[in-house]
Amino acid sequence: MNVRRMRTENGTLIFRIPPDQVSSPEAAALLSEAAALLRSGETVVFPTETVYGLGAVASSPEAVRKIFAAKGRPGDNPLIVHIWEPEQLFAVGTRVPDTGAVLARHFWPGPLTLVVPVGPDIVPEVTAGLSTVGVRLPAHPVALALLRQVGLPVAAPSANLSGRPSPTTAEHAVHDLDGRVAAIIDSGPTAVGLESTVLDITLFPPTVLRPGGITREELEDLLGMGIAEQLSAPPGQKPRSPGQKYTHYKPKAQVRMVQGTAEIRLAENPGPGAVAGTRRVAVPDFAPLAQAVWDRCVRERRRSQHPAILATEETLPYYWACGARWESLPPVFTGPLVPAGAGKELEGVWLFNLGSRADLHQIAAHLYTCLRLLDAVDATVAFAEQVPAQGIGAAVMNRLRRACGGLVWDPLAGSESEAGSPGF
Ligand code: AMP
Ligand code: MG
Repeated sequence: MNVRRMRTENGTLIFRIPPDQVSSPEAAALLSEAAALLRSGETVVFPTETVYGLGAVASSPEAVRKIFAAKGRPGDNPLIVHIWEPEQLFAVGTRVPDTGAVLARHFWPGPLTLVVPVGPDIVPEVTAGLSTVGVRLPAHPVALALLRQVGLPVAAPSANLSGRPSPTTAEHAVHDLDGRVAAIIDSGPTAVGLESTVLDITLFPPTVLRPGGITREELEDLLGMGIAEQLSAPPGQKPRSPGQKYTHYKPKAQVRMVQGTAEIRLAENPGPGAVAGTRRVAVPDFAPLAQAVWDRCVRERRRSQHPAILATEETLPYYWACGARWESLPPVFTGPLVPAGAGKELEGVWLFNLGSRADLHQIAAHLYTCLRLLDAVDATVAFAEQVPAQGIGAAVMNRLRRACGGLVWDPLAGSESEAGSPGF
């Protein structure tokens, strides 16, 4: 990938800057053009290690309003302010609790947003009128080079249309925002793939408002205390994080989580239908669950639905095995594993590979691409496996629950429920 400057038919500039070429003269020229656009009050999409952000300078009400207009974002959902030096936390915020410096020193640059009391230079459009502001120092060379050039804190939510999955590639951002923003910087896929952890340190104990790239376990280890989690507003109470009010990350298909799949364990011995070369497979008792999911997909097909399954590397062979019985496919799919993040259509059922259960970071990195692929193949119903809600898995499950709108299906019990709202 080389540094390149292009313009789409809808007038949005595309600056291609591979992270490893950020210091080249060609990249520097594009970065100063992007920085000049931001300084003049325009919006620019830029990569971070979590997802792509849609930026505007945080000190200009007009510029910040363009973010809300481009995304179709409700005005009461605040934006995260991006900085490039940790000390700027004390300028963007004010009366920052002591934990702020400790957390910043340890986790920045990185996928942690600190909610602190807002300072005077941040316009109310950024905070949606709240008395607090979310601040983050991203770990991405292109983001940092851009912010440094702008020389001002930049407010940036994820660069998607409001309600859609966040963009983890520039193509996702172009799909949603072409013609709605001045420029999009393309630096390839993002590393983490899920948004930052939002931690409110104005509360005691510090409280996670959104799980993300930094896990609760990591935060507790560093602070040496338990931290709270408030992922949805308690009944009758105003949400602390306005994002808690909105349904997010929803593809057009109706997605259901498949109950019983969070517990799938990995074993070293190959199970039925295992593909040659797979290191590990799910324990054999996954077979009836896979069969139930597959049978439901077949029923959905007969009802003229377009079904899809969000599976994992280790469980894919089980669905292939079911499909083989159903329509006399070759008994075992012996080709190379479907590349993670890509899909394959078997007898009208789309199978997507979220990645390996042995590496939940990989699943986090692929989740939004898979959710967007559901739309790309016109899936109307989808069934998503769960993963253990530990470490980054907590953030994966949080986003999946939202993508499912709380719908959980228990194939073995034959029941369906709209999960209350724990963690939703
Ligand atoms: P986005 O960048 O689109 O993923 O959205 C930013 C997220 O951070 C939203 O869920 C916001 O509600 C949350 N957030 C930003 N600023 C604050 C704040 N001051 N207080 C609470 N939550 C915030
Ligand atoms: Mg967002």
